[in-house]
Amino acid sequence: MMSSGDFCPRCGDPVPEREETLPGEPRERDAVLCDDCYFADFDLVDAPDRIEVRVCSQCGAVHQGNRWVDVGARDYTDVAVEQVTEALGVHLKAEDVRWGVEPEQVDENTIRMHCTFSGIVRDTYREEQVTVPVFISRQTCDRCGRIAGGYYASIVQIRADERTPTAEEEQRAVEIAEAYVEEREATGDRNAFVSEVTETSDGTDIKLSTNQIGGGVAKRIVRELGGHVEEYPTLVTEDGDGNEVYRVTYAVRLPKFTPGDVIDPDDDDGPVLVRSVRGNLKGVRLATGDPYEASFEEGETPDARRLGTVEDASETTVVAVEDEYAIQVLDPETYESKTIARPSYVDGDADTVPVIKSRAGLHVLPADAVDTDDADAS
Ligand SMILES: [Zn+2]
Ligand SMILES: [Zn+2]
Repeated sequence: MMSSGDFCPRCGDPVPEREETLPGEPRERDAVLCDDCYFADFDLVDAPDRIEVRVCSQCGAVHQGNRWVDVGARDYTDVAVEQVTEALGVHLKAEDVRWGVEPEQVDENTIRMHCTFSGIVRDTYREEQVTVPVFISRQTCDRCGRIAGGYYASIVQIRADERTPTAEEEQRAVEIAEAYVEEREATGDRNAFVSEVTETSDGTDIKLSTNQIGGGVAKRIVRELGGHVEEYPTLVTEDGDGNEVYRVTYAVRLPKFTPGDVIDPDDDDGPVLVRSVRGNLKGVRLATGDPYEASFEEGETPDARRLGTVEDASETTVVAVEDEYAIQVLDPETYESKTIARPSYVDGDADTVPVIKSRAGLHVLPADAVDTDDADAS
């Protein structure tokens, strides 16, 4: 039976009287030893033999605890210092503990961590130095592994009603998907990524890492470009717990008409330049300059046929502005003078105007509808 007697149980030397442990307080196993015996196998610091810091060679994420974390580290010295510090243990009986960690870069993947600790134990100043080698182990995190393996959980298909999506629409849709994923990443979501973007003859397919992201991206595309989304879940497999795992295809159908189209609604009031297809189709009448808006029931697809787009416009000479409702211009194909309707958006002193010639005749377009930047670039 151990007792806090007057003699050291290991060497038999007398021990000076010391403060008793309070009743109920757990007693250190070696508390009864004399100082010599106590310090003979005393470690102020408990340090691991080595530490391995797992980093992703693709994205730079660091494995911490049991997961990969984006640390945004340019080099891993700070991460190594942090992980060594966490792994070090200081003796519970030490008081007034001071410590410092000095990293020494040995090579690209090895950092020697020189750790100095001091503290007061049994009224004695103790100092210890330990060196912990840290190895940077370059691996592939689970996200990068999944991306490399072509993993995806949803597909957003960009299609359009009775046409194929324009290059601008497809590009914008991909940008929207990338921006959405970036926002998720910024919140620390490591399961957000675009897996693949493929062009098909009907439109672009965007493969995404989760169903939630697929749904969010599809919704945003429709909010910006118009149209609607339909969801088609496909059962892929069952997970380990017997839950059914679905892959969802979000089929985005962009509206039949896009801003910049010139259409002829079925109402005998002449052609309309489409300005917006968000919600219901809105535009401007080319004969008068009056606003046009499809009824709520018609939404973004009123009964109309497409006559052309602003891309088909050409700049032509104004021969004379006859009155408020009529203007005389040169037909861009025949160079004959023609008197046509003057919409309210034509300036009285315009020298040239953009016109579009279609089955419905010759019409003046609003100058701001014709992308002069493109014309200059081409
Ligand atoms: Zn002793
Ligand atoms: Zn990675």
